[in-house]
Amino acid sequence: EAVDVGKEFPVHDRFGGSRAVRAVEHANLALYPGRITALVGESGSGKTTLARLLALFHPPTSGEIRLDGLPVTAATPRGEYHSAVQLVFQDPFAALNSLHRARYMLRRALQLHGRGGSRAEVERASLDLLRRVNLTPPERILDSFPHQLSGGQRQRLVIARALAVQPRVLLADEPISMLDVSIRLDVLNLLATLRDEQGLAMLYITHDIASARYLADTVHVMYAGQTVEGGPRDSVILQPKHPYTRLLLDSSPDPARSMADGADDPFAGVAEAGEPPNLADPPPGCRFHPRCPFAMDECRREFPARTTFADGGWAHCWLHRKGRTGELLADVAVS
Ligand code: SF4
Repeated sequence: EAVDVGKEFPVHDRFGGSRAVRAVEHANLALYPGRITALVGESGSGKTTLARLLALFHPPTSGEIRLDGLPVTAATPRGEYHSAVQLVFQDPFAALNSLHRARYMLRRALQLHGRGGSRAEVERASLDLLRRVNLTPPERILDSFPHQLSGGQRQRLVIARALAVQPRVLLADEPISMLDVSIRLDVLNLLATLRDEQGLAMLYITHDIASARYLADTVHVMYAGQTVEGGPRDSVILQPKHPYTRLLLDSSPDPARSMADGADDPFAGVAEAGEPPNLADPPPGCRFHPRCPFAMDECRREFPARTTFADGGWAHCWLHRKGRTGELLADVAVS
């Protein structure tokens, strides 16, 4: 779980000066067993940084990462944490050492996390891992180098390696974006099976809201480092409460999702006109305000507090704080 997490990175310019890039700010996210949470946003929105914070690759600058409700601190044993929480990277080729066969990679992962044993036991556990991710025939895959596998097979091997430590949480960072379109659905279905049959808590990071709609139980939307909206999938996808989510959905290729309808649409032209802000110098308050057709004075001054809704969704938007929810959606109840 990420609780009001922020992360700054120093960047140095060629004149010897430095300044901070606020890659993540006010980010909140909770993962639950047997549920997939999608984290959706444009590239550069801070999704990967948030995943890396959850994987303890970096410490947060502010806020807390928690596991089982307890804050993770410098004293938290890293080995224990990484046995519980595994990160799957976007690029399955870069994630695998081209010099090693699958057998070696799985054996190392099993041994590193105390699941070694006799040669025969490790072999059995490795074959079992490959079957769990539907990599067949597993005996042949064990003998393969990464270059002998297809992109989809490599991503399954990366997932099998992550499963070797028996994690409770899987963080999947754009796991299908570098795969052929023809095999993307297979990998999404594999993630759904791992959720359903093994009860994994999963974070699915994507810029593609249509795949989030297909796979996720819960959707969080991130813009310029801030989590601006979240809730049950249908709450976010069918009744978006934040103008940025609405913009994302309107720009989605899924025709069934298009909410824009002609000249009255307040978002007409916004997608083309706007660019995500430079995080080294982000706009104050709500970072979406330069692109938002509803922006008002408060938006430029202060990041709005969270508003929760009767359908389980929530959003950080001044429209709701000011009783102007109806301008975005007519039939949403504020709880
Ligand atoms: Fe738009 Fe203001 Fe809401 Fe931000 S807070 S999305 S600028 S209305």
